[in-house]
Amino acid sequence: MEFMKVLFMASFCVIVCEGINTRELFSPKLSNKSVESAWECFKNLTGAQRGDTSKAMIILKHYFQKFGYLSISDGENVTEEFDEMTESAIKMYQQNFGLKVTGKLDEQTVTQLMTPRCGREDVMKFNGSKTGSYGMKHYTYFPGSPRWSVNRRHLTYAFDPDNEVPEITQTDMQTVFASAFHRWAAVIPVTFRETDDFPSADIKIGFFYGSHGDGYPFDGVLGILAHSFAPEDGRLHFDGAESWTVNLEYNSAMTAIDLESVATHEIGHILGLGHSSIKEAIMYPTLPARTRKINLQNDDVRGVQGLYGSNPK
Ligand SMILES: [Zn+2]
Ligand SMILES: [Zn+2]
Repeated sequence: MEFMKVLFMASFCVIVCEGINTRELFSPKLSNKSVESAWECFKNLTGAQRGDTSKAMIILKHYFQKFGYLSISDGENVTEEFDEMTESAIKMYQQNFGLKVTGKLDEQTVTQLMTPRCGREDVMKFNGSKTGSYGMKHYTYFPGSPRWSVNRRHLTYAFDPDNEVPEITQTDMQTVFASAFHRWAAVIPVTFRETDDFPSADIKIGFFYGSHGDGYPFDGVLGILAHSFAPEDGRLHFDGAESWTVNLEYNSAMTAIDLESVATHEIGHILGLGHSSIKEAIMYPTLPARTRKINLQNDDVRGVQGLYGSNPK
């Protein structure tokens, strides 16, 4: 498995950062200092503004396309130029992440762009009015606001026996997910129960490397951490190449990612929530390495209760 990680990371770097970043890549367990995110090459763009050209700009444009900020049609020649469309994408990105809207690649923006994140897009259907009875809403839903139907509110989840990670014991895995599901179940009238019957489970949890058949390939260490699908799909995928941990105190890797934090976020998507622009919210798209963030915020709770109502208990 370790060998596969190194192999995948190496091939990814050749494809994405060729000619831009030639620093060595190693697994986090071999050397913390040498590990770089898939988006490390954005550093080269710090200070760039409209009219500048850079090879990293091509990667940035594809990044913006992936997360919903830019539309690139099939066969379109993506140039190295920092053009008007890119400037608009940056402004929208800055707005979504609560940054100063400058349209420039200032340091704060570049740092945010390089932060590990969820693979789901940010730009989804925003709720019509931004002001509700509780004040500003920042949560979003998927287009059409899909949710689990009324007769599917007692959901089962299972771990894919063919796509696990060796670093996390079965007991730890079960504890982490029971806890993450419980946090959502505490605020909405939906229950979650683990089952061994993977094929029939409503929610299917697995760890994958690179391309894994759903059109959303993972990218090695950091970069994209996980992704999941809108109701009633139930697929919840983690990037197997991450240095997953259930306790940051026992994992010294600079790239360690807290499994429960990411699981809690992805379950929000499984239930129908999109990304939030509130930095403290569980549904905010990014999570820096070595960070634990597991408690639902008011914005998360209001968002999910907008789909399912509140827990009558
Ligand atoms: Zn997400
Ligand atoms: Zn996937």
